[in-house]
Amino acid sequence: MKNIVILTGAGISAESGLRTFRAEDGLWEDHPVEEVATPEGFARDPGLVQRFYDERRSGVMAAQPNPAHEALGRLDREFAGELLIVTQNIDDLHERGGANRVLHMHGEALSVWCTACDTRHRWEGTLLDGPPCPSCGQVSMRPDIVWFGEMPYRMNEIFHALSRADLFVSIGTSGAVYPAAGFVQHARENGAHCLELNLEESLGSRMFHETRLGKASELVPAWVGEVLG
Ligand code: NAD
Repeated sequence: MKNIVILTGAGISAESGLRTFRAEDGLWEDHPVEEVATPEGFARDPGLVQRFYDERRSGVMAAQPNPAHEALGRLDREFAGELLIVTQNIDDLHERGGANRVLHMHGEALSVWCTACDTRHRWEGTLLDGPPCPSCGQVSMRPDIVWFGEMPYRMNEIFHALSRADLFVSIGTSGAVYPAAGFVQHARENGAHCLELNLEESLGSRMFHETRLGKASELVPAWVGEVLG
């Protein structure tokens, strides 16, 4: 095995205390996603959306990586082949768990985007109080989050990696949010072995060659141990 692509979702951070998005009822932290995770929701009530991500930002900073993040950090350090960890998560727990080869396809809670001058800044504070952009001084900063209806980041790079993967592993994702839910099909059609690690069967489970059910904090360290021998 020379080339691994991993896709992670909210399930890998659940044991760090960050709540998952509940596909069944469309709620994220008790809010309908169209209220807090769409451009229309932001246009309708920017204060509500800024407050929502201000809370996500402080929640992310208070959370700690769990053994699943740490195992992927170990994999990144010790696996000699090519590796890409594509995450749908906006938290930074992969990085704090020691992984470097991480791509945040849905943006990051600790980054903000100025729509006036198109710059991005690391941000640990709040946006609800309307701070000026450090680059241009305008009050035009929004969360650097890819909302429903917006284009996820770095898709060409992701599909290129999926095309070359010989192993694709999906961890803690429900298979409800596209385009990430379609990655397994692309990897499989290009010859990758496809493994799913999840608490329960997901919408896409039948697309995988193998599904292992259980907690990420147990399944991921065990799988990394197998890969590294
Ligand atoms: P999802 O919430 O739709 O699905 C989570 C999946 O994880 C479920 O299939 C569930 O069975 C599984 N799971 C729950 N606990 C687990 C555990 N302990 N071990 C293993 N699996 C477990 O998540 P998604 O597919 O990532 O889609 C949610 C979207 O919402 C993402 O695009 C993301 O941007 C956003 N989101 C991010 C975070 C975060 O950054 N931590 C949290 C919530 C939502």
